[in-house]
Amino acid sequence: MDELIKKAAADLAAARNVVALTGAGISTESGIPPFRGKGGLWERFDPMEIAHIDAFMRDPARVWNLLVKEMKTIVDSASPNDGHKGLARLEARGILKTIITQNIDGLHQAAGNTDVIEFHGNFAWQRCMDCSRKYQTSQVDISEVPPRCSCGGILRPDAVFFGEIIPPEAMRRSRQAAADCDLMLVVGTSAVVQPAALMPVFAKEAGAKIVEINPEKTPLTGQISDYLIRGNAGEVMNRILQQLEK
Ligand SMILES: [Zn+2]
Repeated sequence: MDELIKKAAADLAAARNVVALTGAGISTESGIPPFRGKGGLWERFDPMEIAHIDAFMRDPARVWNLLVKEMKTIVDSASPNDGHKGLARLEARGILKTIITQNIDGLHQAAGNTDVIEFHGNFAWQRCMDCSRKYQTSQVDISEVPPRCSCGGILRPDAVFFGEIIPPEAMRRSRQAAADCDLMLVVGTSAVVQPAALMPVFAKEAGAKIVEINPEKTPLTGQISDYLIRGNAGEVMNRILQQLEK
C-alpha cells in the first residue's frame, strides 16, 4: 500500500484539474448508514413504499414519520470525518477543484469544500413545496409532522426522491467536470448506480487517470480505474496528505 500512496500523492501533485466522485462509503465513518447493501436502510424499508415521491405526495406525514425523522436525527448529529477533511485539504492546496457526490448529507460542504455537485440533492436542507423557501434541516421543528413553512406549505427534503429526476444542472456540470479533469478520485463508491457510474467512464475516455479508494474491489477496478488503494477513505486520505505535505 505504501507504494500506491506515494504514487497517488505524486499523481495528485502532477495533475492540473482533479475531480472527486464520492459515495456512501466516505460517510459511513461519520455514522451515516448507506441506503443500499448490508446494514443499509433499504434492508429495513422498501424504498418504493417510503422514499418514492408518490408515497410522499400521498401521505407526507407517514414518510416523515417512517423515514425523514430518522434521517434528520442521523444527519443533524453527523460531522465530517478524515475522508471529507482530506478532500477539503486537497481543495485548500489548490489540487482538487470539484466534488461530485451521490451523498445527501452535506458533509463535504461542512468540511470546507466549495464546489460540490449533488446528484441527489441535499438533506441538510428542507424546502417548501409551495413557495420553495429553504430551511436548514437541523432548525426545523418536527414536534408536528409534516413540518410547515411560514406560508403554510409542507416542507420536504431538498433531496431527490425515487421517481424524481437527477437535477439537470447537476447532471450537466458533472459531465463537464468529468470530461475536463485529468485525474478523477473515486472515493467510497462502487459506482454501479447511474448516473454516477458514467462519470469515471467519461473521465477515462477524455484521457484522465482514475484513482480508486475503496475497501474492496469494485466493477471499476482493473477496468476503468488505473489503480485501487484498498482501505477506508479516512485512513487513506490521511496517508496521501501526509505524503503530499512531506
Ligand atoms: Zn412556503
